[in-house]
Amino acid sequence: MLITFSQVNSAALDVQSDLYKSGFWYEDTRLNQANVFWTAFPFRETVGVFYHDTRWLDDIAGFKQGHIYIPSITLSKLIPPRARISLRDVIRHEYGHAFAHYYPELIVRNKEFTRVFSGHYYADHANKIYDGSCYVSEYAQTCPMEDFAETFMMYTRRHGKPLKNMNVRLEEKWSFVKALEGRV
Ligand SMILES: [Zn+2]
Repeated sequence: MLITFSQVNSAALDVQSDLYKSGFWYEDTRLNQANVFWTAFPFRETVGVFYHDTRWLDDIAGFKQGHIYIPSITLSKLIPPRARISLRDVIRHEYGHAFAHYYPELIVRNKEFTRVFSGHYYADHANKIYDGSCYVSEYAQTCPMEDFAETFMMYTRRHGKPLKNMNVRLEEKWSFVKALEGRV
């Protein structure tokens, strides 16, 4: 899969419009600070990345914290659950991380987040509940931050229209994301 600069730009604009329709994007939104960059630099295992912070190797490669990077090419065979997701979904997902980064008081330092997503945003453990019906995707089960980013992706893709047949735990996550609308 090869992704071009203009594909990334047009997908980013579409996603910003989804964010607007979902209530997360307005004139003074802090999400404005996150740029979506296309990069020729190949990533090994991912189709997109948001840097909450960077390490020295990232600095050398020119990556900066607080921004989204979409590589033109991914070297590995994509991990099956994510292989079929669209470029727009990747960007929606990365904006979920950007949201947590720029609104830490609502996500990273929010006890309600820890309860609803079964752990602190930066906890690296897999979520304790393995029932797939509690998640919007298989990848969401990785850890709380990925669970949030996946839920945020689904929410913005649907402009907040609820999924059918959500169980109680998933409904709680959905409501958590919905409640963010009024607080940004
Ligand atoms: Zn992620």
